[in-house]
Amino acid sequence: MAKIFCVANQKGGVGKTTTTVNLAAGLAKIGQRVLMVDLDPQGNATMGSGVDKRTMPLSVYDVLLESASVKEAGLFSDKCGYTVLGANRDLAGAEVELVEVERREKRLKQALAEVDADYDFVLIDCPPSLSMLTLNGLCSAHGVIVPMQCEYFALEGLTDLVNTIKQVHANLNKDLQIIGLLRVMYDPRITLQQQVSDQLKAHFGDKVFDTVIPRNVRLAEAPSYGLPGVVFDPSARGSQAFLSFATEMVDRIRKM
Ligand code: ADP
Ligand code: MG
Repeated sequence: MAKIFCVANQKGGVGKTTTTVNLAAGLAKIGQRVLMVDLDPQGNATMGSGVDKRTMPLSVYDVLLESASVKEAGLFSDKCGYTVLGANRDLAGAEVELVEVERREKRLKQALAEVDADYDFVLIDCPPSLSMLTLNGLCSAHGVIVPMQCEYFALEGLTDLVNTIKQVHANLNKDLQIIGLLRVMYDPRITLQQQVSDQLKAHFGDKVFDTVIPRNVRLAEAPSYGLPGVVFDPSARGSQAFLSFATEMVDRIRKM
């Protein structure tokens, strides 16, 4: 049975996509069967996995509108080692097109049920909003991974996300929980980041992942080569951190 995780944070530019593609590649490297679902119309996770969002024949949009299955629309990337269910601008229209549909927030969940036996992990890259698309992700998932930068306003934004997750848990998806908060783009030389990191641990305890992802330019360069950092330059500090994170995730799942 596949374990399904959303990578979510309603703020943009906090490292969601970087986390999704590198965790996917890291898990693949340690032998896990991974499906990466891009739920952001920007299609960054798609391009960052070497799939051209402009020319791919089918996408997650077709899956949400039930004109294709995940099996039909998914593309396996040899280089990355995981399957990509891609997204592009079409997806921005799905929100409107789904308005009339019953149980519209459960479309992705239903589609993923069909490939449950084919994967160990499904990772969903969410857009920077708490939209119908994100709701589809949260309704499908067993857990949420929240990447965050250790900055003052990061904590403030977290309250909204935590409340949304509580509401989805109460009304739509009893399985949903926060698996963990992942500190990303971390620079230990910055005192404020250390302080916020300490506050996070005081507040959320075990929910803060042990692994910390450092700020590392190789992770930022990798998308322009259509690769996750873990594949582009496995020896880079940031890539090594994501490989550790993949191992930490596998350990956490065993305890779930
Ligand atoms: P989101 O998906 O939340 O919008 P991204 O993953 O696209 O965020 O990251 C935003 C920007 O920060 C991108 O340019 C990305 O390459 C860069 N970035 C993300 N994580 C790191 C990191 N650990 N070190 C350096 N740059 C990073
Ligand atoms: Mg993104």
